[in-house]
Amino acid sequence: MACFMQIEKLKKKLYFEGYMYVRDSERNEKTYWRCEFKKTCKGRAHTMISAIDGDEVYTRGEHSHQPDARRKEVIGASNLLRKSARETLNPTSHIVQDIMNSVTLETAAILPSTSLMKRTVLREKQEQIASSNIE
Ligand SMILES: [Zn+2]
Repeated sequence: MACFMQIEKLKKKLYFEGYMYVRDSERNEKTYWRCEFKKTCKGRAHTMISAIDGDEVYTRGEHSHQPDARRKEVIGASNLLRKSARETLNPTSHIVQDIMNSVTLETAAILPSTSLMKRTVLREKQEQIASSNIE
């Protein structure tokens, strides 16, 4: 089942069965994804453009490497980061620290850098403020 993540604006990722994919293109109402190791791996997938977490993923091509289940925890942590940024008033550094504390050491090693996570939190907070001003 699909599991989506967006840590950097416009860089949406897809996690599926131990593999992480980056968005490649969109056409005919489908999103085409390539394995994150696209230089050395032929793993491909597509979903419907409207797909949400839990929806069907169609894969094609063999991966040249083993699946890595830590990637799933990275996605969970990244999504929690954005949710905390939007729904709490905690300081940015606390939010990032909470995320670091919530994952295993193995997963912390492959999380985005703390400076990137802080930028994500700040952006989410700004967007939250902007959208509440419209209402
Ligand atoms: Zn691959």
